Amino acid sequence: MPMYDYRCKNCDEVFEELILSSTTPDEEIKCPKCGQNKSERLLSAPMISTSGSSNGVSTSLSSGCGHSGFS
Ligand SMILES: [Zn+2]
Repeated sequence: MPMYDYRCKNCDEVFEELILSSTTPDEEIKCPKCGQNKSERLLSAPMISTSGSSNGVSTSLSSGCGHSGFS
């Protein structure tokens, strides 16, 4: 199910919203904290512009699951 991260421009609350329709306008996304519909969708980009770390992208997906293919 498509989950999107939203951030409220009013109170800066970040929350996840389940979007059933891809055409759901942001105006219908209400902040669970303050109830304002001033939320903006956050793009799930792996890069976060944090000053200092040059390469802080680390994926933990390669741990746990077994290898697929060769046996
Ligand atoms: Zn809010």
